[in-house]
Amino acid sequence: MLEHCGCGQRYDLDFRLVDYKQHVSIDNVPVLICPKCEHEEVLHWVKRDLTTLLESLPLDGDRYGLDYTDFNELAHIVYTIFTCSEVDTKDAFKAEITETCMIRINALLDLYRCAAGVGDRSWMTEIECSLAQLTEKVVVDGQELRFSPA
Ligand SMILES: [Zn+2]
Repeated sequence: MLEHCGCGQRYDLDFRLVDYKQHVSIDNVPVLICPKCEHEEVLHWVKRDLTTLLESLPLDGDRYGLDYTDFNELAHIVYTIFTCSEVDTKDAFKAEITETCMIRINALLDLYRCAAGVGDRSWMTEIECSLAQLTEKVVVDGQELRFSPA
C-alpha cells in the first residue's frame, strides 16, 4: 500500500477532505503524499470504490458531508490504525493493518455463515460487499487473499 513515488521517495499516508461537484464533502479519503516532490494521489484501491460511492450520492437538496471511513471497511481500519496505533515504522504500520484485516475478515466470514444459515440474502450481499473491500488488497505471502463463501 505504501508504494514509492515516481521520484523514488517512499510515500507517506494521509487523509484528505474531497469535494464532489461542490455539493458533497467526503472526509478522511486516504491519499499518498510524497514528502520530497509533494506529488499526491488517491490510493489505487480507493479510486474505484470512491467513484462508485460518488455516483450513488444524491446531489439535490442542501450541501452535505460524509465520512469515507463509514463506507469502506479497509479505509476504516487504515484510519483507525493511523490515528490510534503506536507503531513507529511504515512496515510495522502495514503489518498491523494486514493483521487487523485478517481479524475483520474472519469475523465477517463468521457473520456470512450465520446469514447463509438463516438464508438472509440481503444480509449476505451486504457482507460480501464488505469482504470485497477488504480482500481485494489483502496480500498474504505475495498472493492476494480470496475469501470463499462456502
Ligand atoms: Zn516524489
